[in-house]
Amino acid sequence: MKDDARPQCTHWIGEKRHHCKEVDGVRLYVTGPRCPAHTPRALQGLDEFPPGPGWPIHREETS
Ligand SMILES: [Zn+2]
Repeated sequence: MKDDARPQCTHWIGEKRHHCKEVDGVRLYVTGPRCPAHTPRALQGLDEFPPGPGWPIHREETS
């Protein structure tokens, strides 16, 4: 259990009064680590740039 090793989404969910802390699919953005639901573009209602080879989103945990 080394959750600290994985970036967590740092988006502040105002209505829940805590950070998102999602770890699945989190990528680093200018604003910090963000899950797919809280990327800068997603928050603006824009489509994500299509992920290409080697993007971290393609990394998957074995479960
Ligand atoms: Zn999030």
